[in-house]
Amino acid sequence: MSHEGIRFISKEEKARETEETRPLPRIAVTPQKVRVLLTEGKGLEIDWTDGHRSAWSFAWLRDACPCATCIEERKNEGRNAGQPKAKPAQLLPMYTPPAKPAGAHAVGRYALQFDWLDGHSSGIYSWEYLRRSCQCPECTFAAAETSGTPN
Ligand SMILES: [Zn+2]
Repeated sequence: MSHEGIRFISKEEKARETEETRPLPRIAVTPQKVRVLLTEGKGLEIDWTDGHRSAWSFAWLRDACPCATCIEERKNEGRNAGQPKAKPAQLLPMYTPPAKPAGAHAVGRYALQFDWLDGHSSGIYSWEYLRRSCQCPECTFAAAETSGTPN
């Protein structure tokens, strides 16, 4: 019996791999209704074809921008998607308005793009990315279970 081809990976690594590559059924990544609550400034809501409902605040979405620059920046700062930047301690903290888009539009049939008021707009939020980062208690609990880092 040969032991070749056996790969030893840590439990944590395996969990992450499973989480990221776990295929999602088509109905889980096909939105039935997309609501961008611009005037209310609330955020994004999606009703998926499998009956699940997801909601994200605009602030979370801005801090989870999936463009290469933002991914790199988060990686360097050790932030997770949706995690805000650490604010420098200031004597007189400046008021920074919460992130809000001027608008949003569909990219083909697979994604959504926001025109953030800060001028950034290169992030393409695919339905799959959004579904995988669903913020409902059920999904965040499941994600924490597999990654071992509850937040
Ligand atoms: Zn970005």
